[in-house]
Amino acid sequence: MSLVLFNDLTRKKEKFTPIKPGQVSFYSCGPTVYDYFHVGNARPFIVFDVLRRWLEHEGYKVTFVQNFTDIDDKMIHRAKKDGITVSELAERFIAEYNKDADALGVRRPDVSPRATEHIPEIIHTIERIIANGHAYVSEGDVYFDIRSWPKYGSLCKQNLEDLEAGARVELGEKKRDPLDFALWKAEKPGEPSWESPWGRGRPGWHIECSAMSSKYLGDNIDIHSGGVDLMFPHHENEAAQSEAASGTDKPFVNYWLHNGFLLIDSEKMSKSLGNFLTARAAIEKYPPLALRFFMLSAHYRSPINFTPESLEQAAAGVTRLRNCMSDLDFAAKTRSDDSSAFDVSKYRADLEELHGKFADAMNDDFNTAAAMGVLFDVVYLINTSLKENDKLPAEFFTLSKNALAEYDAILGVIGDDAAETEHDDESAEIERLIQERADARKAKDFKRSDEIRDSLKARGIVLEDTPQGTKWKREL
Ligand code: AMP
Ligand code: ZN
Repeated sequence: MSLVLFNDLTRKKEKFTPIKPGQVSFYSCGPTVYDYFHVGNARPFIVFDVLRRWLEHEGYKVTFVQNFTDIDDKMIHRAKKDGITVSELAERFIAEYNKDADALGVRRPDVSPRATEHIPEIIHTIERIIANGHAYVSEGDVYFDIRSWPKYGSLCKQNLEDLEAGARVELGEKKRDPLDFALWKAEKPGEPSWESPWGRGRPGWHIECSAMSSKYLGDNIDIHSGGVDLMFPHHENEAAQSEAASGTDKPFVNYWLHNGFLLIDSEKMSKSLGNFLTARAAIEKYPPLALRFFMLSAHYRSPINFTPESLEQAAAGVTRLRNCMSDLDFAAKTRSDDSSAFDVSKYRADLEELHGKFADAMNDDFNTAAAMGVLFDVVYLINTSLKENDKLPAEFFTLSKNALAEYDAILGVIGDDAAETEHDDESAEIERLIQERADARKAKDFKRSDEIRDSLKARGIVLEDTPQGTKWKREL
């Protein structure tokens, strides 16, 4: 089965065909860096990271661009409140974004462009739109002329009349039609501004994505993604701007993908509603991989409910995966024996069948919920094989570890390198304590050996004495 994606432009699942064979141009709207991001914002960062990894796994060369919005009303507001410049604020929260995204195992984009570093490109894009007759200058502002763009509304599937009914003119806006939106805003006292052909000012909200997408990926790209709240007006406006600027009939984007909302108490998690938990706070409370596990346990387009129970379940899931890895490691050291009667060809065939199911799930509009289910089928197969066989051939261990590693390179829920190092340090310490306990038992110092067992138990580590030695596990 080849990859199909649900395209919001057609509201249908479509076979994915890239513009250039073997390559994918992929733009995802990034954060406005005025504060820590919340768990709702983390959803697009995580799910589209997984889509990017899947495309790479399938052999595509992916160029993944995710911007930082570092100039807008929220940035200006917050900088004023904190008594710092907008660029100091951006610097600070870009660093915080990277810290949290790294902890969540979100790979850094190939390009992370910032709006304020692309003012010439933004101005150039606006000039192209004006030259093509789709924008007008009004007292230092520049507006997109909606009435000149019959396709407006084609992404959000609404007609101009309905959109018009919901539009309003903000104080100080000098536009011809309530739906027209600002490409450039004339300077206001005390706000950052740049020189432009229309006087000093700053970019409007949407233009940066059009300008930066075109600079790094070209005027016609494969995939553009973001949360479903960005479909209107942000993405509708981006499409209008980009297509009006390029002046060709090529669409700006071939596949539009939007993730559903992360809900808390049945409401969208958002800064404005005040019902948010920052990713930083969530990571302090739950293992970061549990957060990632939780996000991937639902289909990216479905709404997902953030509850303490679901996070605890996800944490238990991560532990189960890690335990399977450590059981495998332990057994590889103690029970690997090529004289085993284990039917390795059957095992290989079973893994291959599961591999096919995993690929089918990911190719079906990257259904990570189903893919995670397959990962647990693999874990079940490994666990039963370990349980039912005293000895296992070396190939069993190689096949099992490779399978887990391959799935984890895409989902990233078992452990990245950083987590592994931390894990390894802790594992080494636990192994030392287990050795000390064995020595104490040999010396009949049962007080000490019990003490070690109890102290590990208090840390959620349980010991199991087997004929091959003592094995440890994290409690679920
Ligand atoms: P912002 O920094 O507000 O532009 O948001 C960054 C990304 O998070 C955008 O793609 C939003 O659509 C997305 N987003 C915001 N709130 C939620 C939520 N509650 N659930 C899922 N995605 C969200
Ligand atoms: Zn954008």
